[in-house]
Amino acid sequence: MSNIRKIHNQLQNKEISCLELIKNKLDLLKSNTHHTVNSLLDNTALALAKKVDAKIANGETIGLLEGIPFGIKDVYMVQGTYTTASSDLLKQYKSSYTATAIQKLLDAGAIPLVKENGDSFGHGSSSENTIFGAVKNAINPDLVAGGSSGGSAVNVAKEYTVFSIGGDTGGSIRQPAGYNNVYGLKPTYGRVSRFGILAYASSTDCVGPIAKSIEDIRIVLNTMSGKDVKDQTTYKSEEIAKEAILNANEIKTVGYFKNFIENKAIDAKVKADFLASIEKIKATGITVKELDFFESDTLVSTYYTLAMAETASNLSRLDGTNYGARIEGDNLKDTYAITRSENFSEETKRRIVGGNQVLSQGFSDEIYLKGLNLRDQISENFEKDFKEVDIILSPVTPNNPPKIGDSLKDPLAMYLSDAYTVGFSLGQLPTLTVPQGTATGLQITAAKNNDELVLKFANFLKDTI
Ligand code: GLN
Repeated sequence: MSNIRKIHNQLQNKEISCLELIKNKLDLLKSNTHHTVNSLLDNTALALAKKVDAKIANGETIGLLEGIPFGIKDVYMVQGTYTTASSDLLKQYKSSYTATAIQKLLDAGAIPLVKENGDSFGHGSSSENTIFGAVKNAINPDLVAGGSSGGSAVNVAKEYTVFSIGGDTGGSIRQPAGYNNVYGLKPTYGRVSRFGILAYASSTDCVGPIAKSIEDIRIVLNTMSGKDVKDQTTYKSEEIAKEAILNANEIKTVGYFKNFIENKAIDAKVKADFLASIEKIKATGITVKELDFFESDTLVSTYYTLAMAETASNLSRLDGTNYGARIEGDNLKDTYAITRSENFSEETKRRIVGGNQVLSQGFSDEIYLKGLNLRDQISENFEKDFKEVDIILSPVTPNNPPKIGDSLKDPLAMYLSDAYTVGFSLGQLPTLTVPQGTATGLQITAAKNNDELVLKFANFLKDTI
């Protein structure tokens, strides 16, 4: 059931007013104890709601997204709002412009309610690396929400927002979606413009929706997609029609990575549940193939080598000169050093130091170039796989969400929890978490630009397992 359509009909038929709807969601956000909110956009939201009500009172027809409340991970520029990346460095920073993807939603009339908490600069898999307090899981608040788009996933799961826009560099939409039992899509790289997202690793950063239904994911994806002159990696994509994703007859073959499932690190129940889902898929007549893939350790180290290198470069601009909370030192060099060491978190500093190390003279050939080479091999592997299968299915994570506090003690364990998501990011593939199959969901992946097929298979799975 599409929440967007349901609310749209209620608004258009005057069963609810937009102002009441928005007030109610703002109250829920304000009083929530999950630490999902960095800042509320209440004045803007209330003013926009009144306009929608006036239109309806006037007998006008409203657009599908008009008046629908949504959340925005606090890494997107929205003109005039704080954009903190959940960091001390940008705690007081206000955007001077609006990200393309967000602007498209605003143009469609959707109402932004909140800038959402998550791991600082996207650095993390638990949403504990933040100055706004660890985000608590929607189902069990003793557990982490997942990261880095944890606040966005919890807001959707709790229905504080109808949908939220997360950011996914190596799993940050899919993993918290899985931990909180909602849908989360990382579209094909380049389908949605990155203009106005605070860059983490530019070669895998993706903008995507988190929502409670496949239909809502489709609606929001269509609205945000498209070529943008401000992001040269974007491409023109076809709109995905509502009817186009209802029938999955063309999907004949599904593959899964044997080594993901036979891995020592996978939880026994996640494994058993995954294999049970595979059996149900087989029972419908679909052929299931086991596929070979790179070991988890190789995927995680390749991803972190490249992601750290890119984030070290991207964050070098944050030195207190043009942006951020400048702390004066005795001289300019000192000022840079103090500003950055006081205002970046331990996790962010670990990545900047690691990234500069792999890029430095004497190391870059051995480490960074090797990472790039492995990435090419991973992409080739995917190209080969998608000649044999239509869809690749995998668990989202090897384990259940950890307790709050545990990941901070063991960063390496946290990196390894990304084992199943980072490969698809390196391949720039469309991939969706569905809240089914295992406790932390299943991940549906297709070949590049085949976002439509992913949504089709999600609809099929909804009725199959
Ligand atoms: N957990 C991964 C990381 O910390 C992915 C984060 C993300 O997608 N932003 O790099």
